[in-house]
Amino acid sequence: MAERRVRVRFAPSPTGALHIGGVRTALYNYLFARQHGGDMIFRIEDTDSNRFVPGAEEYIIESFRWLGINFDEGVSFGGEHGPYRQSERREIYKKYVGQLLESGKAYIAFDTPEELEAKRGEIQNFQYDASTRLLMRNSLSMPKEEVDRLIAEGQQYVVRFKIEPGEAVHVDDLIRGDVKIMSDILDDKVLYKSADQLPTYHLANIVDDHLMEVTHVIRGEEWLPSAPLHVLLYKAFGWEDTMPRFAHLPLLLKPEGKGKLSKRDGDRLGFPVFPLEWHDPKTGEVSAGYRESGYFPEAVINFLAFLGWNPGTEREMYSLDELVPLFDITKCSKAGARFDYQKGIWFNHEYILQKTPSEIAELFAPIVRANGVETSIERVTKVVEMMKDRVNFVKELWPLCSFFFVAPTEYDEKTRKKRWKEDSAQAMGELATLIEELDDFSVEAQEKAVHEWIEQKGYKLGNIMNAWRLTLVGEGKGPGMFDISAFLGKEETLARMKRAIESLG
Ligand code: GLU
Repeated sequence: MAERRVRVRFAPSPTGALHIGGVRTALYNYLFARQHGGDMIFRIEDTDSNRFVPGAEEYIIESFRWLGINFDEGVSFGGEHGPYRQSERREIYKKYVGQLLESGKAYIAFDTPEELEAKRGEIQNFQYDASTRLLMRNSLSMPKEEVDRLIAEGQQYVVRFKIEPGEAVHVDDLIRGDVKIMSDILDDKVLYKSADQLPTYHLANIVDDHLMEVTHVIRGEEWLPSAPLHVLLYKAFGWEDTMPRFAHLPLLLKPEGKGKLSKRDGDRLGFPVFPLEWHDPKTGEVSAGYRESGYFPEAVINFLAFLGWNPGTEREMYSLDELVPLFDITKCSKAGARFDYQKGIWFNHEYILQKTPSEIAELFAPIVRANGVETSIERVTKVVEMMKDRVNFVKELWPLCSFFFVAPTEYDEKTRKKRWKEDSAQAMGELATLIEELDDFSVEAQEKAVHEWIEQKGYKLGNIMNAWRLTLVGEGKGPGMFDISAFLGKEETLARMKRAIESLG
């Protein structure tokens, strides 16, 4: 068989915000497609109209745009295999459902929900399958004339997949190897409902993967139980030659304790589980997003890439492009990946370190402006240069750096008690005089002059610097004192000192 061009798809159902696990799935699909020079398809699986949530599709598209995960084909991207929204493919599915009925691989069933419920009460562990189907109301148990009559009368029905017992079904999984189950444990899944004239997930998924020439199905572990059914569907259609290879990715686990990651873990521990902020149109609830929380897309990508896979090296910082050649789907772990959100924060910090002061300044400048400060990008850049390495998020810079732009009007009580001594006012007065006389206000020149003066007077360096810091900053934080005073300039430095001496006495 000739090598087929690699084609993968990300196929979310638009039922709400995209969960971070879905983002990881899309990322692995992307890496796999790119490293094989293949295509990445964006398909919307919206055959369950009850679960449709307006805005979800747009949200998902915007999430990937932000993250830099690009699709080649699909909803909003176009392509030769469209339409890519399943609700627009009704006629296609009808044709394939008809094909299964004709070949006897599927049958029509009229059982109402009440009848099914009654059977469940009657038979323990009831499953609609080879052992029970003849007890039910369907085209296998009823004469053809009656089936035709009921349909003509407008009775609603479903189409069920006729699963033959006793068959070993093999799922060829790139991560888990040969996953084998017996067909007996499967039930005759509903593939189509006459009521809404739409197929269920299973049928639409298989038909589309086939028609869209998907070669690899990379998706979350929660879909592994559906995979044997999908294999059987491929066979029922006679498509086994182009059956995709599967890869079921490990679950994302809670940061602590047992079980899979949930939104509640995020709420409880204070981290987002969605890429972007999500406004639930039904409840009005707003959920945090990585973007709005101040994460860089690069950090989110880097963090997610390592949840279930790693390149086996010491190095941890990789861009999306760098990950492409390294990624190896066969090296993904089978066991669930703990969602260590602290690691996500760590990655963000590392990207702050990696970015230049002017890159960070571009992001910080609007925050400075929003706080009512008019200043130049050069001044913002200078501050960022001094302070960026201390934060995990750009938004943390303002509380740390506001004193560079806004003179203190109050003095932190604790710091004052500890740092402002009997003779501090006197010493600060002398220091102000000394500073006033400096022609060169560079860090180096100030440092030299101030140190000489301290030595001459026999003052304690620590005492002077602490008191001075209180006058310029208003509390005990900040970078080196000469960096602060050089940034503020002589005039502002003196003004702040004067005000502090008056106020602190
Ligand atoms: N629509 C399914 C989802 O929401 C797709 C699962 C699959 O990739 O087959 O994840």
